[in-house]
Amino acid sequence: MPYRWPEDTVFTRLELAVEEPWCRTCGGALTICDHRHHRVFTLHGPVHLVCKLAHCPARACPAGTQTISPEAETTITMPWWVLGWDVVCWLGHRRFAQHWSVQQLRTELADTYHIPLSDDAIERYIHRYQQMLAARQRDPQQLAAAYAQVDAVILAIDGLQPEKGHETLYVVRELERKRVWFAEALLSSATTEVQQLLVQARTWAERLGKPVRLWMSDKQDAFVRGIAAEFPGVPHRYCANHFLRDVAQPVLDADSRAKVRMRRTIRGLRTIEREVLAEQRVTAPPVSLETHPGELPTAAPGPSEGPAEEEGRDVVLDYCAATRGILNDDQGGPLHPPGLRMAEALGDGHASLQRNLEAQKGGVRMNDSRAWPAISTEV
Ligand SMILES: [Zn+2]
Repeated sequence: MPYRWPEDTVFTRLELAVEEPWCRTCGGALTICDHRHHRVFTLHGPVHLVCKLAHCPARACPAGTQTISPEAETTITMPWWVLGWDVVCWLGHRRFAQHWSVQQLRTELADTYHIPLSDDAIERYIHRYQQMLAARQRDPQQLAAAYAQVDAVILAIDGLQPEKGHETLYVVRELERKRVWFAEALLSSATTEVQQLLVQARTWAERLGKPVRLWMSDKQDAFVRGIAAEFPGVPHRYCANHFLRDVAQPVLDADSRAKVRMRRTIRGLRTIEREVLAEQRVTAPPVSLETHPGELPTAAPGPSEGPAEEEGRDVVLDYCAATRGILNDDQGGPLHPPGLRMAEALGDGHASLQRNLEAQKGGVRMNDSRAWPAISTEV
């Protein structure tokens, strides 16, 4: 949909003429036959490009039917775009190098550059930026420069599924320079489909003139067969990440079951908290200054109630909060399974409670008063 410019927009007018005013076929002078108007946002304000279109007027010239437009236009923007290259690069750089959100980009564009764009327009241009970037990354000259100092390449192939139910995207990466070489969406992981990618990888390596030192993958059948066929003699190693993940899967499954059991065992936190809070409300009314000695406020606790009991209730609430934190913590990967972390933390909490109980009995405290604090909120 063409962009609707507000009527009071002030444009800088820029007229562009064809670079060569002579016909390439017959050598005659070209004549201007039309003007194409293209309005774009740039970081320096709106620009109105007037492209002077030309053609060869000679009737006998076979090139007479062709319209030639100034190439300079594409150095400022692309056909049908509403943004100049400078704005597109500004967007892409902030999105991918600085991880700005689309909303942040929209606000900053509007505030600083007076470019009002919708979120979906910004997303569309970010997508175009990605396409340009991918094209540049694949550019043979750029690639040759990046690999000038590399003796041999290490390649990896993996299938990624951006979202469940989507076709798998097969990505070939090179690990010496940590570059994605190319990615293709394949409808199946059949050997013949995967083979095409491996042929392409070989073409790339040959074009660079670099030997392939090693292949890495999750070793699914199609990769194993295809790599053996396309790269005879090149070692094919298991990707360490996949290996670890596969080994860890049974552990993680067991860990997850243990977590459920622990959560089921430790319940009733809310009930304890509710009871303590109710007690607190009963025992903590504002103490009347007019209370006479020997007379207790109506809601006052028994004579045993004192600061220690109050402190005790806070400790109980702290323990409840800490335990809830432990039960809700889902952090940890294969090397630090969440259930194992949970069991350790609950064990610490239990030991801490035990120390308090013993301290109260006077047993531990009397024997070794420095071993632990009388009341510990540490879990
Ligand atoms: Zn001509």
